[in-house]
Amino acid sequence: MNKATRSLIRDGSILLALWVVLWAMTGNLWVSGTLVAIAGWLQSARARVLIHRFIQDQDLSVLPLLNSPESDVAYITQQQQRQMLRQRDRLQEQLEQINTALRSVDRGFVLLGDQNQLRWFNVGAERYLGLSRVDLGKPLDQYLRDPAFGPMMGPITSNQLVVAPSPKDPERTFEYNAFPDGEQGKVIIVRDVTRLRQLEQTRSDFASNVSHELKTPLTVIKGYAEQLGDMAEQLPQPVGKAIHQIQNQSARMQDIVEDLLWLNRLESTQLVDPTALQLDTLFQQVREEALVLAQTLNRTPDIRIEVDERGLNGNHREILTAARNLTFNALRYGPPDVQIDMVWRVREDRAELMVKDNGMGIPRSHIRRITERFYRVDPGRDRESGGTGLGLAIVKHVAERHGGKLRVRSLVGKGSEFICQFPLERLVEPPKPVVVD
Ligand code: ADP
Repeated sequence: MNKATRSLIRDGSILLALWVVLWAMTGNLWVSGTLVAIAGWLQSARARVLIHRFIQDQDLSVLPLLNSPESDVAYITQQQQRQMLRQRDRLQEQLEQINTALRSVDRGFVLLGDQNQLRWFNVGAERYLGLSRVDLGKPLDQYLRDPAFGPMMGPITSNQLVVAPSPKDPERTFEYNAFPDGEQGKVIIVRDVTRLRQLEQTRSDFASNVSHELKTPLTVIKGYAEQLGDMAEQLPQPVGKAIHQIQNQSARMQDIVEDLLWLNRLESTQLVDPTALQLDTLFQQVREEALVLAQTLNRTPDIRIEVDERGLNGNHREILTAARNLTFNALRYGPPDVQIDMVWRVREDRAELMVKDNGMGIPRSHIRRITERFYRVDPGRDRESGGTGLGLAIVKHVAERHGGKLRVRSLVGKGSEFICQFPLERLVEPPKPVVVD
């Protein structure tokens, strides 16, 4: 028998004995019963008062006045209460630390509710967006009115990036990164990218100016080299060789200048003229061009094409160039009988344009950087391959301008996969077959 049952039997026996004594004294069953009930109620009321004093006032002196199960309950409750207080203090301390960290970082953090209402923000957000405590509960849309924020203000399932002017100072440029938070809320992180943008602009202007300045002299050099080339047979052999070199190198420089100018345009303009592209026609064209290049390189590639019947809503020149750059790379960095697969396929949540080869592959440590301008895995060897060093940078920009991204998977000695992933919104239904009666 446990402690609580024993105590219950003891209290019950006392009350029963009291009832019998009172009954004997008063001779009335009901009166004695009522008196016993009052005594029982008084006892439990006293226990409640004592437990309350113990827990609320931490008054240890009441413990001996309680009988055993009550004092146990009081003790356990008090222990739990202490534990909860300790836990609360710990959480409070952690919260303080997080708050201090968020105060000192040079970013604005904003927590939004399901209606974009402001639930919390840090000092950075106050500074960047001009928010103050009185704005809590108000919708953030009131402060970020630029139409670019439209998609970010709707329900989101993955992170959304918007670059837009500061709501307080149109001279400054901010980057707003929104992440889904729980079922319907959002976290927005704001940072000032004005300086970064200025530097990028300076770099881009410089590249564009240099390219423009080089265009005319290069055309002149190439023109004269061609004229001299026509007379090569009448000239001494070393001179003929030098002219041939001048022709080759000026053509290469012209390609670089053209690619640099185009890359700059891709960086500084919005996507224009998207049309419904049929990837099988586009791939066929690239395949034919690759076979011509293969002949000049003395190679015999096997190029296969696999396409989904749905099309892509994109800019023809840009998508053609992206497919061409990837296929020509596969040809140049593969074995003489390289196998190249050009694939257009639709996945559950995206559409993919992939060029796959069984070439030399790219070491893991280089993959992160190969889309940088002029980055080469093996500078000496790759420069000889005839590329401009800008091919993948162009492909990456093309993918991003179409709302997608470029993914690279590669294994040294096995081959590479370059995949331009596009959102499903860019898919176009295939043209309906014409029915002739
Ligand atoms: P490049 O004109 O030098 O080919 P890219 O930007 O097209 O410039 O490519 C950058 C580098 O990535 C190349 O120099 C090469 O080292 C590597 N690369 C690109 N495609 C492939 C491929 N299919 N297989 C192996 N390496 C590749």
